[in-house]
Amino acid sequence: MDDRDGKIWKDGKLIDWRDANIHVLTHSLHYGMAVFEGVRAYKTEQGPAIFRLKEHTQRLLNSAKIFQMQVPYDLQTLIDAQIEVVRENKLESCYMRPLIWIGSEKLGIAAKGNTVHVAIAAWPWGAYLGEDGLAKGIRVKTSSFSRHHVNVSLVRAKASGYYINSILANQEALTDGYDEALLLDTDGYVSEGSGENVFIVKNGKIYTPDLASCLDGITRDAVLTMARDSGIEVIEKRITRDEVYCSDEAFFTGTAAEITPIRELDNRTIGEGKRGPITEKMQSMFFDVVAGKSDKYRHWLTVVGK
Ligand code: PMP
Repeated sequence: MDDRDGKIWKDGKLIDWRDANIHVLTHSLHYGMAVFEGVRAYKTEQGPAIFRLKEHTQRLLNSAKIFQMQVPYDLQTLIDAQIEVVRENKLESCYMRPLIWIGSEKLGIAAKGNTVHVAIAAWPWGAYLGEDGLAKGIRVKTSSFSRHHVNVSLVRAKASGYYINSILANQEALTDGYDEALLLDTDGYVSEGSGENVFIVKNGKIYTPDLASCLDGITRDAVLTMARDSGIEVIEKRITRDEVYCSDEAFFTGTAAEITPIRELDNRTIGEGKRGPITEKMQSMFFDVVAGKSDKYRHWLTVVGK
């Protein structure tokens, strides 16, 4: 990842990709307190367009606020910077990674007084869980690791250190031959994937866990909005893993994962073991929206321009 052409926005300037380095004594590298976003830009007839840029940037700043990180840039500056990164790298479609971290002035636990830095990189990234996964669904295993507890980690923040939990769960699932992990909360209810929110469909209604222990996903919100607007009832509630086994359909949502059907959980086939009709409807609405083919949700796109 570090050796390629292109530009990265770092602390207010576009610099060469290979020069976007940090010192080994960077506070965030040692203790994991950095916050980040995953954002996607899609190819449209008007050129690349970034999906829900303002919402992602606001969540980034909220994450920083939760950790009392004093970000030296405001919302509009960070929005403009992300547009600039897509444009300057001449990317038709891409994944974008804004990151805010604490500098290397001192390494005590107290981060106060250290500088706060921002970088934004962008690169092409295809289907996170594979094209096949998008079409046919993936095999998922309930993790032996619990998701964060609300009074251990503040889960409204998207923080780097939290992803140790995601990595443990994902590694376990992949080692055991599955495509992704499903994590339960500390009470044993379904929470989310290692980098995705989760949904089930039962008797024509869509269910997803409430936000107590999972990330407030922007794709999750898009699905809830599109489903409600299409007259599909959506219910946010506690869900048990056996409800997932007995659901008609299940799917993951996320910026990287987009809308990926789940065809199996813990070796139980879900529904007919393939992408179900409501999943397919949500997927096709979503891909129309991001391709700029939907007037109704055009306000979710920021066209980058040439
Ligand atoms: N949960 C976790 C743990 C994630 O990392 C992500 C990806 N950001 C999501 C859910 C989905 O969020 P979004 O739709 O905003 O990408």
